[in-house]
Amino acid sequence: MDKIRMKTPLVEMDGDEMTRVIWQMIKDILIYPYIDLKTEYYDLGLENRNKTDDEVTVFSAEATKKYGVAVKCATITPNAARMKEYNLKKMWKSPNGTIRAMLDGTVFRSPIIVDGVKSYIPTWTKPITIARHAYGDIYKNTEISVPQGAKCEVVCTLGDGRQRHELIYDFEDSAGIVQGIHNKDKSIEGFARSCFNYALDTKQDIWFATKDTISKVYDHRFKDIFAKIYENEYKDRFETVGIEYFYTLIDDAVARVIRSEGGYIWACKNYDGDVMSDMVATAYGSLAMMTSVLVSPDGVYEYEAAHGTVQRHYYRYLKGEKTSTNPVATVFAWTGALRKRGELDDIYDLIKYSDAVDKAILQTISDGIMTGDLASISTLSKIQTVDTETFLMEVEKRVNI
Ligand code: NAP
Ligand code: MG
Repeated sequence: MDKIRMKTPLVEMDGDEMTRVIWQMIKDILIYPYIDLKTEYYDLGLENRNKTDDEVTVFSAEATKKYGVAVKCATITPNAARMKEYNLKKMWKSPNGTIRAMLDGTVFRSPIIVDGVKSYIPTWTKPITIARHAYGDIYKNTEISVPQGAKCEVVCTLGDGRQRHELIYDFEDSAGIVQGIHNKDKSIEGFARSCFNYALDTKQDIWFATKDTISKVYDHRFKDIFAKIYENEYKDRFETVGIEYFYTLIDDAVARVIRSEGGYIWACKNYDGDVMSDMVATAYGSLAMMTSVLVSPDGVYEYEAAHGTVQRHYYRYLKGEKTSTNPVATVFAWTGALRKRGELDDIYDLIKYSDAVDKAILQTISDGIMTGDLASISTLSKIQTVDTETFLMEVEKRVNI
C-alpha cells in the first residue's frame, strides 16, 4: 500500500513524561505505517523549554498560526517540585496558557463515548462539548475586604479625565467584601466566533447561557454580542448546514442539559465553564477519554488530550514496568489534527484514515480489549486489560482502509 502523502506540514508539539512515551508509540504503530508524515516538530518537553528560555513554546504557537493546524502532547506546568526535579532556570508558565493567549482561542472539550462505559446520566448518549470562555470575570478580579463603616464605589475614569461613580454598597452596619471584575468586547467577540466556527465545523447545535436577567449590563453584553455576531456573520451558514444557535438563561440551560441526550456544544462563561466542564467530564466516566481542541476566532486549530502527563505511570515506566496508560485521547488528538489537515488540503485519504483509526479504537474497546482505567468502569462481561503498546497494536489490527 502506498503511504498517504501530506501537503502542508502539521505542527507537532511534543511533551513530557508518560504522554511523551505514548506519543512515540502512536507514531510508530498507527501513523508511520500509513502516512508519509510531514510535521514541523517542536519539542515542548520541559527540558527543552528550559534550555530555550521557553522560546520554543512561542515559536510553536507562531507556526500554528502560520500553518493552521497543530497537535500537542501533554506538558508539565512547572511548580516548586518541578523546579527542583528539572533544575529549572525559572518557573516557566503553562505552555497551554502561552499558546492560548497567542492564538486568542477557545478550548472545546468533548468526551469519547464507547460501548460498555456508561455515563452517570443515562440519557447522555451523545457527547456534550463544553466551550469555556477563558478570559476575565473572576479569574482576573480585584477584591478587597471591607471594614464596617466603609462605603464602596466603582470609579471609572474616562480617557478625557472625567469620572463616573457608582455606589456598590454602604457598609454602615457590617464589615464585608467587594470584588471588581471585567471583560472585553474584543474577547467576547473572539469567543463567539470560535464557538460559531466550531459548531459549523462539527455540525452541532450551539447553546449559550448567562444570567442576563440579573446582570443587566455585564452578562447582557455577552448575550448581545453573541446575537449580533450570529445575525451578521453566521445565520445564513447555520441555516444551510441545518444547525441552531440557542440562547437561554443559565438556570434553564442547566435543567435542559440534564434532560438532554447530548450532541451539542455548550458555550459557557469562564466560571460556568470551569465548573460545568468538571461535572460533564466526570459524568462521562474518564478523564482519559476526553479530547480537547483550541480554536482561534480566525480558524486555527490545536488538538490535544484533556489529561496531563500521567506522572505516576511514568515513574513506574522508568522502573521498567509496562504501564496500562490510556492512549485514546492522544490518538484522537492526532486523528483530529490529521483529519483537519486533510479537509484543508483536500486530501480525502487522510480524512478516511483518521475516521478508520477512530473507528478501530471504538471497535477494540467494544471487543473488550482496553487499558486499566476503562476496565475498572466497563460494564462488558469479558474484558482483557492490556498495556498501552498492546492496546495500540490491537487497534492497528482493526484499522480498515
Ligand atoms: P494527569 O496527568 O491528568 O493524571 C492524573 C491521574 O489521572 C493519573 O495519575 C491517572 O490516575 C489518571 N489518568 C490521567 N490520564 C490518564 C490516562 N491517559 N490513562 C490512564 N490514567 C490516566 O494529571 P496530574 O497527575 O495532575 O498532572 C501531571 C502533570 O501533567 C503535571 O505536571 C501537570 O502540570 C500536567 N498537566 C498537563 C496538561 C496539559 O498539558 N494539557 C493538563 C493537565 C495537567 P492513576 O494514577 O490513578 O492511574
Ligand atoms: Mg475546574
